[in-house]
Amino acid sequence: MTDKSLPPLRAVRIMAKCPICERTATTDYQPFCTKRCANIDLGRWLKEGYRVETEEGPADDEDGGREPGSTRQAG
Ligand SMILES: [Zn+2]
Repeated sequence: MTDKSLPPLRAVRIMAKCPICERTATTDYQPFCTKRCANIDLGRWLKEGYRVETEEGPADDEDGGREPGSTRQAG
């Protein structure tokens, strides 16, 4: 028998890392470390959201999309 027996696997609190600064996240601002990082992430989400919305508007390549430079003779 081994004298030194490893302790059984117990439910250790998952120490998530802040996706912004990769610091240990706090329980108050999971999965972020501070409110600041949480806001940064939120801002990114909002920005991306707006981007997608605006991109969905003028996204018509099939309908009359002439590229300047490409000289092709149709016919
Ligand atoms: Zn952080």
